[in-house]
Amino acid sequence: MKLIDGKKINQEVKAEIAKEVEEMVAKGLKRPNLAVIMVGEDGASATYVGSKIRTCKEVGFESTDINYPESVTEEEILRKIEEINTNDEIDGLIIQLPLPKHISEDKVIEAIDYKKDVDGFHPINAGRLAMGLPSFLPATPAGIIELLARYNIETEGKNCVVLGRSNIVGTPISLLMSRKAKPGNATVTICHSRTKNIKEICKNADILIAAIGQMEFVTADMVKEGATVIDVGIHRVKSDQTKSGWKIKGDVKFDEVAEKCEYITPVPGGVGPMTIISLLKNTLLAAQNKIY
Ligand code: NAP
Repeated sequence: MKLIDGKKINQEVKAEIAKEVEEMVAKGLKRPNLAVIMVGEDGASATYVGSKIRTCKEVGFESTDINYPESVTEEEILRKIEEINTNDEIDGLIIQLPLPKHISEDKVIEAIDYKKDVDGFHPINAGRLAMGLPSFLPATPAGIIELLARYNIETEGKNCVVLGRSNIVGTPISLLMSRKAKPGNATVTICHSRTKNIKEICKNADILIAAIGQMEFVTADMVKEGATVIDVGIHRVKSDQTKSGWKIKGDVKFDEVAEKCEYITPVPGGVGPMTIISLLKNTLLAAQNKIY
């Protein structure tokens, strides 16, 4: 069994991005600038935003941190988005989700200029991804593809089973795994809450991607000998074995599944570290006008 080390790849990609930024600056170009809008004071969201801003600094990006209280109106957010859309200093814009109930996430996402939509959630980017056209890829699926590529894991002609069909992970990773590309060219089956015989379907997977949001859902009896297992799940559970009092678990029962795998991502330290770095890669591509 070989561990897919997301932390190591994160460091590699980060160094590559930082180098490109310095080359841009040396040519007299401006540093990429990522704007992050956050509404309310949700602890988990604040942590994610904090690490996005911190990672921007680490690679030499500028960042624009915009915070609104929970009570902000949808109109006010839409006005701010319009302002950023037309601000040439800002290359990428993301809105930290979830938003309070009185604000429509769909409306807000659609208001972002798709050329600055570095989260890849705008319908134009999602549609272009489905059509195999250049687009900003959503960060978590892009991170998974980067891991498969850097570990040289063969995907062509393989059976790939994706657990979950969300717009941010399951659906886009299914499209990426089946598209005519490397990594890609896999035969993909998507499972969701109405799928029958999930266990049998999973057992047929050469590559199993779990993005189901159910802690330790994937057990050893669902996994084929020699499979590659990618665990997207993040579940925080109380633990008296760690300093913080918390432990992170995935959608896969790692201890029993790992021994059957050729490759597996750990949680934490697998897919997680790739998500932010993929967002920054999109921001770099936006600043370099490489997608649009
Ligand atoms: P989500 O929106 O909750 O979607 C979960 C999907 O799994 C849905 O398609 C749902 O089916 C399906 N599902 C749920 N329970 C099931 C069951 N018992 N049997 C079969 N299918 C089932 O989740 P998400 O946003 O994609 O996230 C998935 C997991 O990844 C979560 O643990 C999340 O925290 C984690 N995550 C991690 C990262 C990262 O950076 N590592 C990024 C994003 C998300 P239906 O469509 O039928 O409801």
